[in-house]
Amino acid sequence: MRPFNDSVIYFAVVDRFHNGNPGNDRGRDPEAYDASRSDWFKYWGGDLNGVTQKLDYIRELGCSAVWLTPLFDQIDGLVDVEGRGMSGYHGYWAKDFKRLDEHLADSPADVRVFASDNTVFDRMIKGMHDRGIRMVLDIVCNHSSPAHRPDLGGCPGKGEIYDDGKLLTSYEDDRLGWYHRNGGVRDWNNKAQVEGSELCGLADFNETRIGYRNYIKDAIKLWLGKGVDALRVDTVKHMPLWFWQEFVSDMRFANPELFIFGEWFMGGCYDDLSVNFANRSGMGMLDFALQRGLEDCLARSAGQGFELVDNVFGRDSLFDDCRHLVTFIDNHDMPRFMSVGASPARVDMALALILTCRGTPCIYYGTEQYLHNDTNGGADPYNRPMMEKWDTDTPAFRLVKKLARVRRENPAVQSGSHRRKHLSTDAYVYTRVYRGSCCLAAFNRGQDLTLDLEGIELPDGVYKDALSDRAVSVKNGRIEKLQLPRDSSFVISYCAPVRPAAELELSFALNGFRTAYGQRVKVTGNCPELGNWDLDKAFPLEYINDNLWLGHLPVKGSAGKPIAYKFVVERDGDGLLYENRPAHFRLLPKEGFLELQHKWC
Ligand code: CA
Repeated sequence: MRPFNDSVIYFAVVDRFHNGNPGNDRGRDPEAYDASRSDWFKYWGGDLNGVTQKLDYIRELGCSAVWLTPLFDQIDGLVDVEGRGMSGYHGYWAKDFKRLDEHLADSPADVRVFASDNTVFDRMIKGMHDRGIRMVLDIVCNHSSPAHRPDLGGCPGKGEIYDDGKLLTSYEDDRLGWYHRNGGVRDWNNKAQVEGSELCGLADFNETRIGYRNYIKDAIKLWLGKGVDALRVDTVKHMPLWFWQEFVSDMRFANPELFIFGEWFMGGCYDDLSVNFANRSGMGMLDFALQRGLEDCLARSAGQGFELVDNVFGRDSLFDDCRHLVTFIDNHDMPRFMSVGASPARVDMALALILTCRGTPCIYYGTEQYLHNDTNGGADPYNRPMMEKWDTDTPAFRLVKKLARVRRENPAVQSGSHRRKHLSTDAYVYTRVYRGSCCLAAFNRGQDLTLDLEGIELPDGVYKDALSDRAVSVKNGRIEKLQLPRDSSFVISYCAPVRPAAELELSFALNGFRTAYGQRVKVTGNCPELGNWDLDKAFPLEYINDNLWLGHLPVKGSAGKPIAYKFVVERDGDGLLYENRPAHFRLLPKEGFLELQHKWC
């Protein structure tokens, strides 16, 4: 898996982003559309043509990946949600995974998205790829749809599911046995119930049926065949791990580098089951733990402040690879940061933090415009307003643009270890370090502050703040009297001279050996790049955290050939420790990128 660590993801609720084609607004059921945009449960008109029209805006912001809410054909009509009729505008009530929803299409023919290679979807994804933007498809494997409300214009069939327009089964007449019939989840601590019962009345797929698994996997592979670059997977907590392992294996068989990340609601370093999922499913995970910490610290101004944020990074080694986390400050399932209480300056700080820390940052649409609606505390659906303006000169827009560039250029921001340099309730300073490159990020939410810092991994010299162009001097790892005004961020980025590019790059990652900073881990092997088993010429990895060592190795002569290799730990005064097994073997590709991730043996 190749995560998007050099990218910033932009996440849009398609219906609420931009209406590029008013002709599709009413869909099959005009009752589900509200032209006045006052009924938050109905369609408001956004579509794929609208996304395509705004790709230059997204690119200008510096984002090089776009996650869109699910595009699959949704149930028609309205569903009773607490006494009100809700449409499938959000995309999470699919009835046909092999068709595009008609509200998103440019022409009626577009909905049969796999019958042509010139649909609105094809044009959108080409527009993305032409701009160096990768497409993240949002998918749901756990459920289809809830019961509809015939009195509100819906058809009655809960869980009706179609194969390119052909009815396969439904909850009411489940001829294929594709649905669980266990009622709703009652005990959220009961794993079997969470996985095998219904979430909010949504018809819950029975993953033990091979027919269902073939259907959903075939459908998603068709989308991959259209050029989708990554998958965001909904409700992963609600299906068994074996299903995800099989699913991920099959998806990656179709595209070995495919980046996949899952939504384990409220998951992260404090939730053991979610950590186990992240380490064993083969996919990355949305980092709710960091989001909680940032919200407490910067939006609620909680008493523990940055300690809450630092606690999360302190637990990074629970994960086999913390680079696979996807970070965010808010999303479509929680109030926006400003609705919780953040000022624009605090939004900027939270953005600066996720843009410089580990993982891949994801920005919820409109955050760069300070978009928010505080009705009912900004809870769903008020966290999904229509995008109102496209100002490319807001402070947040400029900040994202600058730090997206830092992320794209600086390997320490993409992959580096996280090293705390100062921590108090109101201020936080860390560096990210990898192979001589370094990024320093400093934040202050309290009174104006002056800090002396030491142990900074930057060569002596004068550096400019990436955000303000303010200059500071570094001498012997010391920065004296760094001024941090109230509610401000400060970022220095230094990139070590780049190595000559090679046609093939190997990424070695080693987990499972509890090491400490200062020890040395190397890869030794039977090719010149790995020293032909001579340990003095072996390839040294770099410490990322207690559980992760990493190295990117350009390969020339051995590209296209088989190699054998092992990991070795050099411990001062304690001798060598070789992996206790014969060597790993691998046939290298001729070019491109190959990740070799191993657990210490
Ligand atoms: Ca439209």
